Amino acid sequence: MQKEQIGTGFHILSKPAGPICNIDCNYCFYTEKEALFPKKNQFRMSEEVLETFIKNYISTQNIPEIQFVWQGGEPTLVGLDYYRKIVSLQAKYAEGKKIINSLQTNGIRLNEEWCTFLKENEFLVGLSLDGPENLHNFYRVDKKGNPTFSKVLEALKLLKKYKIPFNVLVSVTRESSKEPLEVYHFLKEQGVEFIQFNPIVERIPDAMAAKMGLRHATPNANNEEGQKDLVTDFSVEQGAFGTFLTEIFDERVHNDVGSIHVMNFEWALESWLGLPSTVCIFSEECGNALAIEHNGDMYSCDHYVYPDFRLGNVLEQDLKAMVESNTQRSFGENKKSSLPKQCMECEVRFACHGECPRHRFMRTHDNEPGLSYLCSDYKHYFHHIHRYMKVMVQLIENGLPASKVMDVIKAPIVVTNHQSTTV
Ligand code: SF4
Ligand code: SF4
Repeated sequence: MQKEQIGTGFHILSKPAGPICNIDCNYCFYTEKEALFPKKNQFRMSEEVLETFIKNYISTQNIPEIQFVWQGGEPTLVGLDYYRKIVSLQAKYAEGKKIINSLQTNGIRLNEEWCTFLKENEFLVGLSLDGPENLHNFYRVDKKGNPTFSKVLEALKLLKKYKIPFNVLVSVTRESSKEPLEVYHFLKEQGVEFIQFNPIVERIPDAMAAKMGLRHATPNANNEEGQKDLVTDFSVEQGAFGTFLTEIFDERVHNDVGSIHVMNFEWALESWLGLPSTVCIFSEECGNALAIEHNGDMYSCDHYVYPDFRLGNVLEQDLKAMVESNTQRSFGENKKSSLPKQCMECEVRFACHGECPRHRFMRTHDNEPGLSYLCSDYKHYFHHIHRYMKVMVQLIENGLPASKVMDVIKAPIVVTNHQSTTV
């Protein structure tokens, strides 16, 4: 009998090596999760968990393409043979659906053999690289505190050599947030075409985190006085990430639209086009991006891997039941229902939607809780890009590529559809 399926699709980030990593980036929010699992765990997803997950993840979704994201910690630590096993299990249970695999890696273990496999099996790769040597090595160091930049750059060269589609994930820290163009030009010089900027915002541990042996605050920690002082010293300062994005936006909108894809700007364009966001942080509601740990435990989100947000275990509970549970539904709906009045009345809410709940630990000007730490950043950024976004929307609606915006900027008046457009 056909198993009941979910028609809209959801994502589960998979952590085959759990939170274990071969390097020790100071700002990492995930390696601390080792403290949440009993010591007897081997931090390697067993074949039983892996097969159950792959089988149910495919069969539960009534969509033509199934996306797997292998992440960590560092997911290459389980070894290349493990991925050969993954691919064979996916083929076994594919049911005619197209399987897409993404690997999010620090790049340290990538070599010719890995790249041959990734290319042959059409993996997409996300490579963590924070910018030029000094900025990358500031936090991304190995277990002995040694820099990792040169190894990551070798990985980038290999990905290019093998023509493996990849994007670079840049963690924007307090230091790098002050050097937007240095970061952007470096990536451009390296021939990177797809970039995503993730701001680092972590709070110092609250009492609950300290009790659990974690280095950063748990999601429900309350901030009272001196709110902004409660972030770690590697977190971006308020205002810095907005400036970082706008400076790179200006550079790209004059020179690189269509040739360098900055995902942050692509997401914004979706909002200006009136489309639902493809990324959870800017969606009205979330809850469609879950996480599975090495032992089969399922969590509401990769950023909410805490006992309070555990939905069950893939060996014990039905995957569909966990995804559709009241707990998970209310987790996703809460993103919208918990918005403070300041967000509800905000003119850029259509693009921001209060951003990710994990950053909502500030108070509004009315002293209401639940405002994003990055509010002023996004307000600045969305207001700044508005006029360019309007032009790009008009171009697209007239069947022209968004990259024409660069011509519009150079010759500030164009006539489209009997209307003049100025930037
Ligand atoms: S909590 Fe944040 S990261 Fe998690 S699913 Fe919601 S918006 Fe996405
Ligand atoms: S910019 Fe600020 S006020 Fe506006 S929706 Fe985003 S977080 Fe809320």
